[in-house]
Amino acid sequence: MVFALPILAASPRASEPAVERTSPRSVRISVTDRCDMACVYCRPTMTDGYVPAEDRLDVEAWDRLVRALVARGVSRVRITGGEPLMFRGVVEVVRRIRAIGVEDLALTTNASQLAALAAPLRAAGLARINVSIDSLDPARFAAMTRGGSLERVLAGIEAARAAGFDEIKTNTVVLRDHNDDEVEGLTRWAWECGIVPRFIEVMGVGEGAKLFQSHVVGYREMRAKVAHLCVDDEAEVERDRGPAKYVRSRDGNHRVGFITGTTDTFCEGCDRLRASSTGVLRACLSKNDGVDVSDAARRGDDASIERGLADAWAMKPDASWKGCTESSAASVNMRATGG
Ligand code: SAM
Repeated sequence: MVFALPILAASPRASEPAVERTSPRSVRISVTDRCDMACVYCRPTMTDGYVPAEDRLDVEAWDRLVRALVARGVSRVRITGGEPLMFRGVVEVVRRIRAIGVEDLALTTNASQLAALAAPLRAAGLARINVSIDSLDPARFAAMTRGGSLERVLAGIEAARAAGFDEIKTNTVVLRDHNDDEVEGLTRWAWECGIVPRFIEVMGVGEGAKLFQSHVVGYREMRAKVAHLCVDDEAEVERDRGPAKYVRSRDGNHRVGFITGTTDTFCEGCDRLRASSTGVLRACLSKNDGVDVSDAARRGDDASIERGLADAWAMKPDASWKGCTESSAASVNMRATGG
């Protein structure tokens, strides 16, 4: 079933290149389900009765799993969570994946611990980093993250800038009546810092399912808020860099991105696999189906991982699937699955 969204004008279909869907090209590995923030669209509260997984994969198991996935054609890896910097071995995971050799290695973080970890992550070979930041107002930031400290996040971003990553992007989930008046301010601030800002439509995944119909701000509206700063072109996807669409600033020096998981669900271009912190491979964020390869990863049993990968990939919905607007998305736990 697909939720109806009558009030939204659909964003333009991007001219996406045809995607090889017989096997995944990119994987998002969720190294921990724990998080030190509880964003209002992601999880209910800090203490919602959720018991963090005890059987998380360790560094060795991640090494074996990623090695096997790369042997089967995965070339881009993003480390996420939960909050990936809460996983003690995160720097070592980066070092191992860099040693395996991938085209692209990136990480998504809330940056609460990035001040201390930016330089070690960069030294270990992390190329690109995305930081989630929903507001530049400390009180609003604390409210949207249920207790997060904007000061710590800004210190983390400063450390990332000093560490010299190839690219820093920000992720801002735009919620009506929460932070929809900050799209221009966040864009100007990011550009001044040499960062690529990205604005995300809230998706009906997990906790977001309670908010998305009433609070989603669609691509058209977000794009209009920065129209005077940007060229008139429609936003375009960047090849091999996920579903975000980008548009250039008028002076040509900057870009701003939009992720349209609600008004344009982009399933037809999806080449992405997800691995949960407990070693479950999933082919779609909006479904709970998956294949547990944790034992195989711990044993380094490549043949079983390969079978698990094929079985998980066979669960990939076809191009008619409407991603996070499907009703199954509401029962997905973003923490357990990995964002
Ligand atoms: N803890 C890390 C962080 O905060 O970036 C990584 C995990 S978080 C789940 C990854 C991204 O998913 C964040 O940018 C977050 O804003 C986004 N996200 C979580 N729930 C969402 C929802 N319902 N709709 C849209 N984006 C969501």
